[in-house]
Amino acid sequence: MGAIMIRCPATNELIPVGIDADRDTFAGLPDVKAAPVHCPACGGKHAWSKKDAILEQTMRIRSRSYD
Ligand SMILES: [Zn+2]
Repeated sequence: MGAIMIRCPATNELIPVGIDADRDTFAGLPDVKAAPVHCPACGGKHAWSKKDAILEQTMRIRSRSYD
């Protein structure tokens, strides 16, 4: 699971759009304009579409239980 992020055009920081997705879900998203997201970096609002977005995946190693 990862968080969909876009880059703030004002500060160039990555900001979360508030949507979590895995790689397959992200790949399957239609390339349409999404609702503007409130930006914690500059305080503004940014419209975004899939081509602006990246999937930030946490590199967390999960422990598996073998049973
Ligand atoms: Zn911003």
